[in-house]
Formats: sequence, structure tokens, C-alpha cells
Amino acid sequence: MKFHIITLGCPKNQVDSEGMSSILAAQGHTPVAHADDADVVVVNTCSFIAAAREETLDVLREVAARKTPGQYLVAAGCMAESHSALVAAAPGVDALLSTREWMRIGDVVDTLQREPAVAASSAAREIIPLSSAPASSDDLRVPGAYADWRTAPIRRRITGPSAYLKISDGCNLRCAFCTIPSFKGDMRSKAVGAILGEAQELADAGVKEIVLVAQHLTDYGRDLGLKDGLALLLDELCAVLPKDRWVRLMYAYPHGISERLIATMARHPQICHYLDMPLQHAHPETLRRMHRPPDSDRTRRLIADLRAAMPDIALRSTFIIGFPGETSAEFRALTAFLEEVQFDRVGVFRYSREPGTPAAALPDQIPQRVIERRWHTIMRLQQGISRQRNRRWVGRVIRVLVEGQGQTDDGRLLSVGRSFRDAPEVDGQVLFWGTAATGTFVDVRVTQALDYDLWGEMVEAPADDARSENGT
Ligand code: SF4
Repeated sequence: MKFHIITLGCPKNQVDSEGMSSILAAQGHTPVAHADDADVVVVNTCSFIAAAREETLDVLREVAARKTPGQYLVAAGCMAESHSALVAAAPGVDALLSTREWMRIGDVVDTLQREPAVAASSAAREIIPLSSAPASSDDLRVPGAYADWRTAPIRRRITGPSAYLKISDGCNLRCAFCTIPSFKGDMRSKAVGAILGEAQELADAGVKEIVLVAQHLTDYGRDLGLKDGLALLLDELCAVLPKDRWVRLMYAYPHGISERLIATMARHPQICHYLDMPLQHAHPETLRRMHRPPDSDRTRRLIADLRAAMPDIALRSTFIIGFPGETSAEFRALTAFLEEVQFDRVGVFRYSREPGTPAAALPDQIPQRVIERRWHTIMRLQQGISRQRNRRWVGRVIRVLVEGQGQTDDGRLLSVGRSFRDAPEVDGQVLFWGTAATGTFVDVRVTQALDYDLWGEMVEAPADDARSENGT
């Protein structure tokens, strides 16, 4: 059968889609570039907030409207789990596949192929439930291909110089606004050996930057009985990866960042001096209502420790604006915190009232117009901070991973890439005149700082390792 996968949502979903793709290809099915040409279209859904669910339903409707006789539509992933009845009721959906069960996509497609009439009936639209996943590393070694997402073989699809690598899934915490644990369940870590194998495969295929992702990166290995599991994993990872590769850490829960982790980040040349550390708020009372650690002073100390160990570290965080009960004073405390800490990058989410979460039942929900006003205030503030942080790089040389080339209207050639300060898809870029090959590292002298991006000129051929990316 020919198949096409549409991925919605976050990088974790992208990794799962690649897993599904590799399983289907291994079973003899053929990927095609357009849904119209496929016998099976898989939509890997997102359930993050109401807007993401709306988008998911829109995409399912769109695919269903174009369905041809004999074509099947499978809804997989987070929303297929969290809102299974709603997704199953969407016209044209033939089968559901829960998140964490993506490795069973081969079974689903086989069923569709073997028993199309049954598969297309409403009886077949039952969700394949979350497995009672084993928790120990011993269990992970139990043979049985595709029995568990942590051991399912993935042949990664390499589409650029960067690739995400998911090291765990689910979350042990219960932030009051978040629906993720309700459909992902508790955190389950992938075994160290499986991660190393996947990383080596990516490196062998020419990937230059491996971005480690999880719901909660810094909790890695707790379910495997590991202490400081992320630091341990990084040591192993850097030992097997060539020196000229980048490893980037996304989604680090602040209170899981240990001294050992900071030292590990500072020690290995491959690890980007970059950390994405979602904080969500800075006022202790807001944090308390969010069911998050309210100790902002501890966070301040942590940031100071990170900057002491890696003076050029780029820090990214995300915040939620308009959480129930957020007073003007609490909001001002957040803006003051941003001015004080000076993050390089900040993402700001408007609070979304998610049914079933503790936050949805809280009094003092904030009116949307207030949320909008606060969102614009904080975005303007951070724009200035980001520009200031960028200006510190003017005149300095920074290592850039080239991602593509372009041309101005008057025909001048330019290249675009990212430095260690910028994660794919969410941060800024570095642009420079002239062309350099995609997937190479070049050194660029920064000549101009914009709000989010840098401009510069290429100064020399790439060096042998990635150490100088940090400007040291
Ligand atoms: S740490 Fe992240 S994934 Fe876990 S409950 Fe909080 S917001 Fe959700």
C-alpha cells in the first residue's frame, strides 16, 4: 500500500511519525509525497490546547473531503487518545491509533488491507488502548518487535542537517493547566542503548545536530532507576558521537537541573551551550496555583550557576499569560523577572482553559482582552531584550550550521543557518552573504543584530570540532 503521514503538533510527534513511516516501509508499504496518491493517510494528531484540536479536526475534515474510493484515513497520536470519541465521529476516519501505540501502525494498515469492509465500519473505530507499558530497563530488552515504542526500530527520515531524538514520553508532574499526563501517562524513558543506536544512525546519515526532546527532559531515566539520568546519557552520547556534531537540549524542567548536568553540559564540546527551560511564570502565588515549584529564587540561582559554568549560554524559556487569578501585581512580577534575568529567547502562550484540568475549575478566569493586552506587553518587552542579547554578538565570530541558501530580489546570494543560540523552528537565524553548503559548519563574523536574527559575513573554513560555536 502507498501511505502518506501528516504530522501536527510538536517535535515529539514528528519523531513518532518517522517511527510509523519506518515501520510501514519495513513492511513493504511505500511512502508517497501527497495524500491524494496514498491508499492510507495517517494524521498524527495534536491535543495540546483547544486551537491545536481545532486544527486537527480541520485537517481530518480536509483529508476526508478529498478521500477517494478505497482510500483509508487513520487518526493517530495525542488527540486520537484524549478525544477519541470526537475523532472517531469525524467523517471519513477509518481507524484510531493511540499515542504511544504508533508502533502498531503496521497492524492497523494490515487490517485495512485485509478486511477493508470491517475496517471501514464504525465497529473498527475503536481506539487501540495505551498498553500497560513495562517500566524497567530489563523489560525493555524483552524480545518482541514493536511491543513497545521504546524498542520499536526507527529508520529515521533525514530531511536536513538537524533531527529530533525523543528520549522519553509522558510526564510524572501534574501542572494544573496541562492535559498531557492525562493522555500520555507517566514518563517512560527509552533505554540508553536504544538512544545511542538512534543517535549513531543519525550521525552516520550526516545529521549534524541532534535535538533531544521529551515532555520533561531532566526527568530522564527516573523510571529506569537512574540518578542524574540525563547527565549520564549525555556522557554516553558524547562518547559515541563525532566531535563535530551538536547536541541540543529542549524542555528541561528547571528543578531537575543538577550540578552534574551543568558540569556535563560545560564539559563536552558537542553539547550546545543552550537550554530551553520552560518556567511558565515567576510569581510564587501564580506558580503555586499552577502546581509548580514556587521558589523563584532557586530558579535565579540556577540561572546564575548555568551562566557561571557557560558564560555564553543562550537561555530560552516559555511563559503562560493570563493564568486564572493572575493579578496585575503578579503579571508585573513576571515582567520584572524577564527584565532581570534577560533570557535570550522567550515563548509566550496565552492561557487556554482546558476542560478537565484543575486550572479550568479555578475562580477568577482572566478575560481574553486582558490576556491579549498582557501578551502584547510581554512580547514587546522581550523583543527589546532579545535585540540587546543579540547585540552582544556584533563583531564576534559565531559557528553556524548552514540550513539553506537564498537570493535577494536584486540577485545577491545569501545563506541562512543557525548558531548554538537558536533551536530549529522556534528561535532566530543567522544570515550571511555568499553561499555555503547545507549541512556544513561555517564561522561567521556578526555585523548586525536584528530583534531575533543576526547578519554576518563568513570568515573562514569550518574548524574541526564544534567547540568554537560557543565563541570561546
Ligand atoms: S511538566 Fe510539562 S508536560 Fe509535565 S505536567 Fe507540567 S506542563 Fe505538562
